[in-house]
This record gives sequence, structure tokens and C-alpha cells, in this order.
Amino acid sequence: MFCQSSDELNELVIEAKKCVKHGKVADYIPELGKANPNELSIAIYYPNGNCISAGDIERKITLQSISKVISLALVLMDRGTDYVFKHVGMEPTGDPFNSIARLEMMDVAKPLNPMINAGALSVTHMIQGEDVKERLQRLLTLIQTMTNNFEINYNENVAQSEFDTAYLNRSLAYFLKQHRIIDEDIEQLLDLYTKQCAIEMNCLDLARIGLVFAMDGIDPDNGKHILPADVARICKTFMVTCGMYNASGEFAIKIGIPAKSGVSGGIMGAVPGKFGIGIFGPSLDQKGNSIAGIKLLELLSKNYRLSMF
Ligand code: GLU
Repeated sequence: MFCQSSDELNELVIEAKKCVKHGKVADYIPELGKANPNELSIAIYYPNGNCISAGDIERKITLQSISKVISLALVLMDRGTDYVFKHVGMEPTGDPFNSIARLEMMDVAKPLNPMINAGALSVTHMIQGEDVKERLQRLLTLIQTMTNNFEINYNENVAQSEFDTAYLNRSLAYFLKQHRIIDEDIEQLLDLYTKQCAIEMNCLDLARIGLVFAMDGIDPDNGKHILPADVARICKTFMVTCGMYNASGEFAIKIGIPAKSGVSGGIMGAVPGKFGIGIFGPSLDQKGNSIAGIKLLELLSKNYRLSMF
């Protein structure tokens, strides 16, 4: 039986919070540096609509890398798997999320997977639409449908702050343009990518996205497919193999659920067939994952046997 009460969850949050002091808030995007490292919140969303939560559940967070899973789902629906995987690979990497090293070592400079920044830039490039506004709106509409919250938008300050300082992502994008993986204007791509990463929501919304993935793409309210089951399956597989950066192997062993983290301190988890999880804890470990968020998932996984393996 899984945790059914917010009180039970609260006790685990108090325990997990003890480790926030060992981490650090991301500040390479200046706006993210303003987060309070001591925060930790979690929401769990069940298919019957029940939710339990602990911590400041109203707090909005930007998706950052979590958005990469949803942009992948959108381009898989837009373009089909063959086209998408001609432009981005399927293999995990032991390198950090923003590394440029592998691109130069490959025969074809195709990014290894859609969860590292090079791969995510190539995925964002594939989002269809007339201009940045329409492409962003298409992604927002998918996210609004998955959360059933049509107010969701992006945070302009965070987007601008990243756009102004995204030197490394610009380098990755120019490298990919040189090798014809990307063929659009790089400033335009960075405009879309930084807005995508700055899409914001609270933990409950995040947990509902996790639930849609957990239920093979089905909307828990009306039973209709928001994503085809195959698209949800591919996204969940990437969450297992590459969702937690270059800590994905350890995460699979210790926790064992599909999950995706972002440098804002968010983690979206999908426990197949059971529920979705949204976590916010901005103090990050050395690999860029929420340090208390991982601890909390470890406690949950151990107490309630969540591992799929
Ligand atoms: N917007 C961030 C970047 O591209 C996302 C990285 C992340 O969350 O891992 O640097």
C-alpha cells in the first residue's frame, strides 16, 4: 500500500530536508540563484484524482530540463520516431548535461540523447510552427492539457536571465548548425529554448504530468489519450536511462522509477500504472539533481517498494 496521507509525507519531507545543507542552488542562470535552498515540497497525484502533498505546494518552479521530456513528446507526435531519431540519438552518456565533448568525438555530430542540452536543442529545433510564438504556444498547449491547468505560462524573468547568459548552449547550437543537425537562426532557437525551460508551475501540476506519463499518456479525468502510448513509453524509457543526468544509473538502482530533474530543483516522477510525483527542492547535488528531492524519493521508494526493477 502506498502512502495515503499528507501527514505521512510530511514526516518524510522533514527527514529528507536534513540534507539541503550539503547542496547548492544553481546560479549559472542568475534568476535561479534567488531560490531559497531550504525549501522542499512534494505532491503525489493518483489516477482517481486524489492528491496528497507536503511543503509549500503553491510555490511555482520553472521546468528547466524537465521540459525536455515534453518537447520530445511533442516532436515525436509532430514528426514521427524515424525523423526524430535521425537528429538525436538514444544512448545515455556519463557526461554532464551541458557537455560539448562527445559531439566532436562522434562520426556524425548527432547528440547522444534528447535529455542532454545538445539533444534538447535539436529537439526544440524540431517543434513545428510558423514562428517562436506559435511553436511555444503548441508546447504550452500540450503542457496545459497534461496538467489540466490552462493558466500555465513561462516566467519572463527566468527566460530572459537564461537567454542573456546562455553562452554554452549557444556554443552547442552553433556546433550543431555547423554539422547540419540544426538549420535555423540560433538566436531564434535560443529564444524558444529558454522560454521552454522557463515554463512554470507548482508541484501539483508537475505531479499530474508525471501521472499522464505513468498512465501511458492517458488523461486521468476523461480516459482519453493526450499522448499515444508509444510516445509515453519512449519518454519514460529516456527518463530511466538519462532522466537524472549522469546520475541516472545510481538513481535506477536506488529508486527505480522513471523521473526527470531540472536545475531549478524540480523532479517529475512517473510510477508506472500507479501515480505521478512532483517535487521541488532547489538545493542541488554536484550532478545538478535536487539533493533533498532525491533523498525523499529514496525514502519513498524504500518504504513503499516503488522500484520497477
Ligand atoms: N535551461 C537549462 C540549461 O539549458 C536547463 C538545464 C537543466 O535543467 O538541466 O542550461
